[in-house]
Amino acid sequence: LYNILQELRGNIRVFCRIRPIFKFEAKSCIEYIGNDGSLMVFDPCKSQNTRKIFQFNKVFGPATTQGEVYKETQSLIRSVMDGYNVCIFAYGQTGAGKTYTMCGSSNGSCEELGINHMALNDLFQISSIREDIKYDIHVQMVEIYNEQVRDLLAEDGANTKLEIMNCSGNGGLSIPNASIRGVQSTADVLNLMILGEKNRAFSSTAMNHRSSRSHSVLTIHVHGKDISGNTIRSCLHLVDLAGSERVDKSEVTGDQLKEAQHINKSLSCLGDVITALAQKNSHIPYRNSKLTQLLQNSLGGNAKMLMFIHPESDSHGETISTLKFAQRASTV
Ligand code: ADP
Ligand code: MG
Repeated sequence: LYNILQELRGNIRVFCRIRPIFKFEAKSCIEYIGNDGSLMVFDPCKSQNTRKIFQFNKVFGPATTQGEVYKETQSLIRSVMDGYNVCIFAYGQTGAGKTYTMCGSSNGSCEELGINHMALNDLFQISSIREDIKYDIHVQMVEIYNEQVRDLLAEDGANTKLEIMNCSGNGGLSIPNASIRGVQSTADVLNLMILGEKNRAFSSTAMNHRSSRSHSVLTIHVHGKDISGNTIRSCLHLVDLAGSERVDKSEVTGDQLKEAQHINKSLSCLGDVITALAQKNSHIPYRNSKLTQLLQNSLGGNAKMLMFIHPESDSHGETISTLKFAQRASTV
C-alpha cells in the first residue's frame, strides 16, 4: 500500500517552495540548486561571500505547477484513509505564497487548485472506490488567535471560546465543543471553508489582515469500518499559519504587540515541538501553546507531517530565519 513506501522514509517531510519573483521586487537572494533538495541563499547587499546552503526533502522552484507539488505529497495525504493522522502546514512570511499553495488561486479565466482542494478530491475518491471499507467523513474548523481557540463553523459567528482536551484515547476529539459537520464531497468542505473564512473575518474588530495574524486549522475526521467490523479513525489537519515575519517591537504597541507576541510564541513552540520530535526526546513540549496542543495527535507517534516552507526571495533576513526553522524539522 501507500504506506509501505512512506514508512521507510520517516514521518516528517519538508518541502520548500519558492514563488516567482514579482517585477517590483529587488533582486532575488535565492540561488536555486538542482534536484537533490538543496537550496543556496546569499545576501545580495553584501559584497563578500554570504552563501548558505539548506537541505530539504525537495525544493520546488518558481516554475513548479500546483499539480507537480501535489504529486510529490499525494501518497502521504492518501495515508489518512489508511488510518494515519496527517498534518499539513504552510510556513513563511506574509506574501510568500502560503495561501496560494494551500488554497490555490482563481483570477477569472484560469483557476489553479491548491493542495487542500486536490487532497479533498483524492480522499473522497478513495472513499467512493474502496468497497472493503465504508467511510464517514466530518470536518471542524477553528481559529487560534491570541492563544484563544474559536469555532469558525459556529452558527453565531465564532464567538464561543473553546477548550482543547487531551484526546490521547483513540478517536477522541480534541475540541469536543467545536461544531462538527458531516460531509460527502469536496464541494461540501469548500462551502464550509467559505463560511469559516467569513467568520474569521467577522471576528476581527479594528484589525485588518486578520488572516495573516491568526492560525486556522481545518480538520477532516475520517472514520472507516470494514466488513468484519474493524474500525479506523484518523484525521487530516490543514493548517494556515499566521505570517512568520518578525514585528519590530519598537514600532508596535497595544493590541498589535500582543498579537505579534502570541504569533511568535506559537510558531516558536511549534518549532520546539518539531525539534524535540526530530531529536526523539522523551519530553515533547506540546502544552506550551494552543496550536501544538491542538495538533498533538498529528505531530508525534505514527503521525505524518508535511511542511511547505515559503522563503521570501527578496528579504534575506526573514528568509534565513524561515529556512533555519525548517532545517530543524528536516534533520530527522
Ligand atoms: P501568503 O498567504 O503567504 O501571505 P499568498 O499566497 O497570498 O501569500 O501569495 C502572495 C501573492 O503571490 C499572491 O498574489 C499569489 O497569487 C502570488 N503567488 C504566490 N505563490 C505563487 C506561485 N507559486 N505562482 C504564482 N503566483 C504566486
Ligand atoms: Mg495567506
